[in-house]
Amino acid sequence: MRLDAVRERIRAAEERSGRAPGSVALLAVSKKQDAAKLRAAFAAGQTAFGESYAQEATGKMETLGPLDIQWHFIGRIQSNKTRQIAERFDWVHGLCDLKHAHRLSAQRPAGSPPLAACVQVNLDAEPGKAGLAPDRVADFVAACAGLPHLELVGLMTLPAPTEDKAAQGRPFRALRLLRDRIATPARPLPVLSMGMSADLEAAIAEGATLVRVGTAIFGPRA
Ligand SMILES: *Cc1c(COP(=O)(O)O)cnc(C)c1O
Repeated sequence: MRLDAVRERIRAAEERSGRAPGSVALLAVSKKQDAAKLRAAFAAGQTAFGESYAQEATGKMETLGPLDIQWHFIGRIQSNKTRQIAERFDWVHGLCDLKHAHRLSAQRPAGSPPLAACVQVNLDAEPGKAGLAPDRVADFVAACAGLPHLELVGLMTLPAPTEDKAAQGRPFRALRLLRDRIATPARPLPVLSMGMSADLEAAIAEGATLVRVGTAIFGPRA
């Protein structure tokens, strides 16, 4: 496990970018990693974990039961999985369908805090990829405003990978500028969920508040 190395990358990127120390949260992406690895990361102080498959995640939740983990669903949301997500997770990052937003709010158990949600934005209009076109995000956010058990906290993006370091920042900057344009005092959308193992430095330079990191912590997925 390379949790310390990733923490150090985040710290260094915060410093280089003039960001406050500790302003970037680390989500440990544990999809296709077994529960023992999550347990080890938790013992090292990591409390937020990201999973992409509801079924797989539910198994780990049962195994790790008593640990006080914050669970983030980062996969593609399917209608037949919204109940599991609403009941078992604390956050969802890939929201881009109003029908799913309604279901998640309606299915959130009474007594649980609202489900925190990031709207996924498809910045480069990649076909087949989840996410809203940038010009549809403001209306989507407005349409979610009345949902009592869903709290839109920010935006998320998953750009096409590129080795070109100079190009890595472009989509992240676009996401930040979009957020700045559509944020209101009532709905500030403070969270920018962007950056992964290969490009977290570029994302932090452009204002990421949460990076989703898997392989750099846990190694290759099963
Ligand atoms: C798998 C995944 C990640 C983590 O990717 P790594 O390259 O392993 O860091 C981040 N975000 C999403 C949405 C993912 O599906």
